[in-house]
Amino acid sequence: MELTNLDKILVGESKFRKTQVEKAIYHDFTHDWDKVKELPKELRSKLNKHCSLDINATLFSSKDNLTNKALIVLKDNNAVETVLMRHSGGRNTLCVSCMIGCPMNCAFCATGVLGLTRELTTDEIIVQAIYFARLLKKEKQRINSVVFMGMGEPLLNYENVMAAIRLLQSPNGFNIGARHISISTCGILDGIKKISNEDLPLNLAISLHGSNDEVRRSLMPIAKGYTIAKLMQAVDEYIKKTNRKVMFEYLLISGVNDKNEHALELSKLIKNKLTFVNLIRYNPTGKFTPSSTKQMKKFKDILKNNGIPVTTRYRFGLDINGACGQLASIKK
Ligand code: SF4
Repeated sequence: MELTNLDKILVGESKFRKTQVEKAIYHDFTHDWDKVKELPKELRSKLNKHCSLDINATLFSSKDNLTNKALIVLKDNNAVETVLMRHSGGRNTLCVSCMIGCPMNCAFCATGVLGLTRELTTDEIIVQAIYFARLLKKEKQRINSVVFMGMGEPLLNYENVMAAIRLLQSPNGFNIGARHISISTCGILDGIKKISNEDLPLNLAISLHGSNDEVRRSLMPIAKGYTIAKLMQAVDEYIKKTNRKVMFEYLLISGVNDKNEHALELSKLIKNKLTFVNLIRYNPTGKFTPSSTKQMKKFKDILKNNGIPVTTRYRFGLDINGACGQLASIKK
């Protein structure tokens, strides 16, 4: 898909015409300009020539077909992965990537191992949503929610991520309410502050994964610069400003961060905050062992008994390496 020439092609066109073009791409999800009959023939032929709507992608589906993963090849031949999770009742969540690789190097994450190749542009983020919106349209379904939990750290590609979010939530675009859009960060403090000043009620998720600095540092290099105390202060300020609930994501890794004392420590850390914990069983990326079902239950019970709201994340797409922490832009 090639939209970089779009502004140039539309120079001199009326606002009405531009809205028609945007609606065709981001709302009607057309894949062929010739089908957009409301546009004059001459404009359609220019768009055909300079603004291709083709997406070069390979689709992978899990055995239960609840998860689809697309490997999208970009203009410079870099590839990006994006994952669609199908919930019961016909609701669909899209997990998008915002970088090729990631500079944050979290020890449990296949993307982190790659290092950063480059950030994605707004168009390259949006093309992931367009690909799956087209696919779902054929099934008379739509994307209901979007999570920025794929490859990359969204708060380090702030401008492009926010521009993509504005298209996702626009009525002329995907028309997905901001309340159904979530950003997950490993803890970029100035980004958390910036997002609290946005006029959109987005959801914020924090990858915590450790109940103390020592454990967190062993898993996430960012914790060497930002202590948990500083992170909690940023979260408190975010909640004060937005009055929105924050999700703490917590991967459970056997023997590393899943002991009973960690659950107790975590409970104390976030007690009485407008937050909840989302427990995620570590998805194998080669380095660690996932917690046992028994220990996961124990960990959850300790949180619950200490008054902490807690949920467990369903493991989508494990058999196509599409689960949390497994995205690595490699054909599998
Ligand atoms: S978990 Fe997120 S921030 Fe950490 S390396 Fe992976 S993609 Fe980057």
